[in-house]
Amino acid sequence: MSTPTLLAIDQGTTSSRAILFSKAGDILAVRQKELALHYPHKGWVEQDAKDIWNDTLWACRAVLDDVPDQSKFLAGIGITNQRETTILWDRKTGEPVYNAIVWQDRRTAEHCHNLRAAGYEDKVRAKTGLLLDPYFSGTKVAWILNNVPGVRRRAEAGDIAFGTVDCYLLWKLTGGNIHATDATNASRTMLYNVVTQSWDDELLKMLDIPRAILPEVRDNVAAFGVTVPDLLGRALPVGGMAGDQQAALIGQACFAEGMVKSTYGTGCFALMNIGPEFKESKNRLLTTVGYRFDGKPTYAIEGSIFVAGAAVQWLRDGMHLFKRAPESEAMATSVPDNNGVYLVPAFTGLGAPYWRPDARAMISGLTRESTAAHIVRAALEAQAYQTLDLMDAMTGDSGFRPDVIRADGGLVANQFVCQFLADMLNRPVDIPRVTETTALGAAYLAGLQTGVYNSLNDITRAWQCARRYSPAMDGAKRDALYKGWKSAIAMLVGE
Ligand code: ADP
Repeated sequence: MSTPTLLAIDQGTTSSRAILFSKAGDILAVRQKELALHYPHKGWVEQDAKDIWNDTLWACRAVLDDVPDQSKFLAGIGITNQRETTILWDRKTGEPVYNAIVWQDRRTAEHCHNLRAAGYEDKVRAKTGLLLDPYFSGTKVAWILNNVPGVRRRAEAGDIAFGTVDCYLLWKLTGGNIHATDATNASRTMLYNVVTQSWDDELLKMLDIPRAILPEVRDNVAAFGVTVPDLLGRALPVGGMAGDQQAALIGQACFAEGMVKSTYGTGCFALMNIGPEFKESKNRLLTTVGYRFDGKPTYAIEGSIFVAGAAVQWLRDGMHLFKRAPESEAMATSVPDNNGVYLVPAFTGLGAPYWRPDARAMISGLTRESTAAHIVRAALEAQAYQTLDLMDAMTGDSGFRPDVIRADGGLVANQFVCQFLADMLNRPVDIPRVTETTALGAAYLAGLQTGVYNSLNDITRAWQCARRYSPAMDGAKRDALYKGWKSAIAMLVGE
């Protein structure tokens, strides 16, 4: 008997991947290619848009070739992608006019500063839910228009297209037929009004960006177009699209208000579903489109922790305390507690809710009894303290306190981290059976469009918990540990 399969394209910052999923969400085949980052000047980060496309196409073809018996039953394609990364290309030739400017790029910091000084920040927040920051696409688009010779004139003549990576890949897959993006990716451009769900003339004017370059914005589940038959052997429908963090929210089936997914990789991204009402954050978190189905947006509050797994990498590569990341667990549990040692991993500044970009990391509470194990334990505990800080900010903004946290990412392989997280949040932490939640989310979207799934209920039912960590720490101990963390933060920020 044949059951349909779904292809997810997961185009990330460091790699381009294709994954073939079964209807039950199992991975049937996966292929990936590493993607180079270029740093032409201090603070600039670029990628070759052609590499993004060629590697993605290669990965799709390789996956379909790996399992021909299952690829035969491919129902549709879903795309998820690194967000905000900006590409402008010629509508006639398909040639990018400049490298992709990656979300990490800070070249437009001064532009943002000037706009802030001119009083635009409140407007940007109220319309987009974002901060006025180089991170988002808007000022990157403006930079290309202002700095690459001839591009502005061509853009005004209607010859240039702008897109984030999802949009560019769709354009290539459909042979230049479709210039469209989805509401989650649009919500990261700083050009899209997430309240009215439309490109915003005032924001376009603020950045001097001609409307003619913008893609059409569709729901996350939509008929995005059909691939050119030559590319993948036959014409295939693209039925779903979402930015990576939103795709993970969908892959974790967080469809009810107050549900949270938290991804612990190099950094940590937490998204909380806050329902159909747009709410501006009071804690400088972002409000963003979580997903949009049938024209109706559901919003999410997004908070990020700059350094999560990166702290483990630093202990391994900078301090040489162990050789492999998983060894951190045995070291941390070789001591009964942190013995008063805290590690605040502010290697690149302190993010939400403190927002001290100039702060730097700190280890506090060292005594003659302190050992490497205490420092490792402190680094792992910090994952939970940082998450608790973030949850408090999210609750302050939304009024929701999640009943449970759905966690994923490389760090959740560490059982000490997961248990300590459950203990500190005083909430269960659930780890899904399929941990590739981002790609899975894209596959789910494509499956909804192509009838593989009938409704969100199908997805809610398909989501399975592999392991639940239940809170088991008494309140007094929890309070004392968190108080210690807050004192360490106070030492750092001088309050
Ligand atoms: P990314 O997608 O950001 O590249 P991953 O989700 O692959 O990240 O997670 C990798 C991160 O998780 C690394 O920083 C690594 O140090 C950390 N990590 C992986 N396994 C463990 C483990 N068992 N214990 C602690 N940290 C781990």
